[in-house]
Amino acid sequence: MGNPQENSSIENRENLVSQPDENGFFGPYGGRFVPEPLVAPLEELTEAFLRHRDDEIFREELAREYLHYSGRPTPLYHAERLSEYLGATVLLKREDLNHLGAHKLNNCLGQALLARRMGKKKIIAETGAGQHGVATAAVAARLGLACDIYMGEEDMRRQHPNVTRIELMGARVVPATSGDKTLTAAVDEAIGAWVAEVDDAYYLLGSAVGPHPYPLMVRHFQSIIGQEARRQVQEQFGRLPDLLTACAGGGSNAIGLFHPFMADEEVKMVGVEAAGSGVTTDRHAATMTTGKPSVIHGMNTYCIEEGSVTAEGNHCIAAGLDYPGIGPEHSLLKDTGRVRYEAAGDREVIAAFENLCRFEGIIPALESSHALAYLERLKGEFPADYLIIVNLSGRGDKDMDEFITRRNEVDRNEANGGGVDEGGPRSGLFC
Ligand SMILES: *Cc1c(COP(=O)(O)O)cnc(C)c1O
Repeated sequence: MGNPQENSSIENRENLVSQPDENGFFGPYGGRFVPEPLVAPLEELTEAFLRHRDDEIFREELAREYLHYSGRPTPLYHAERLSEYLGATVLLKREDLNHLGAHKLNNCLGQALLARRMGKKKIIAETGAGQHGVATAAVAARLGLACDIYMGEEDMRRQHPNVTRIELMGARVVPATSGDKTLTAAVDEAIGAWVAEVDDAYYLLGSAVGPHPYPLMVRHFQSIIGQEARRQVQEQFGRLPDLLTACAGGGSNAIGLFHPFMADEEVKMVGVEAAGSGVTTDRHAATMTTGKPSVIHGMNTYCIEEGSVTAEGNHCIAAGLDYPGIGPEHSLLKDTGRVRYEAAGDREVIAAFENLCRFEGIIPALESSHALAYLERLKGEFPADYLIIVNLSGRGDKDMDEFITRRNEVDRNEANGGGVDEGGPRSGLFC
């Protein structure tokens, strides 16, 4: 039985880690707010996930895919010149070095292996900017599964290279033509297709959002990020970090880094969302900073109020962060104060993006640059020997056109003396 001291400390550790109840609620958040036809398929999925999750052979299969297909473990890289500039030791968790250049593959591999175990023949997914569609098409090819990717007609036009990538890997791109012809249309039509083919098809969701069990399952498959980082930082520095930070759209790369450190009370965590042109404007995706709890996409979670941002176009510089909700576990972590949420604006994000390129020869995704922008605000204010892990969720090669367009816009605004981009509110160091 061991000594009681030890047992109680293990128990305390578990209590600090947020586990949803059997209905998928993280406190008041999450759950399963779905139409009747989705209840049985989601129950089947929950049961299968919980059964296979701890199965030795499944774990070995997944470990092999991480290593052999994605190229994990990704390095924990000491950004020495950026560290010197910021006045703290900054380590980058290099998720940009995964196959396909981002963390999204971690989740796609896990779910696709589960689909195969469940005897499904086809993967269905929705995609907005196309990154999740590309990662899903890749794992479907790898495992020999059929694959339909639903994509808004408008997004297909805007993100045409990703349509070609998906098709090259043998998947079908199905244009979603309802409503605004963007992500919402793609989600609706993909779910409709899943319900119609539920015996053969598996619905592969791309972030830690949606009805139970997706937030729990996506966290599980993305936690490889934090598990590796926790081991690597102890090997390299002999201690845990003071701060973890990651960008948050749906919240999957952030929860993947944070979760394995959740019980380490001394480790602070900050999620950074997109302030776009400013949180008081109608162009941002700052869910936590401006939103209120409500039901969206099958879950109860913080959500930007309808009508408070413009209905058209992009709400921030990074397509991957342009989501009006956030994973339900993050909502609980905000309320409990375990994680702090900040918002970074397009202009400071561009500056942080350029700095990482110049200091380290690494072009980060514009999404990941939001976490870097948060750190730049604190330049020179960090305590001595402060150790930070930043999740570099993806590489920025995909972002060249957006960067060029937006840099020119920002330059023009500045030349006109316009301060359009006010960024996020400033709130100092979290310690
Ligand atoms: C999709 C994406 C994100 C945002 O998704 P999360 O679920 O919040 O992690 C962040 N970074 C990159 C590079 C992405 O492709």
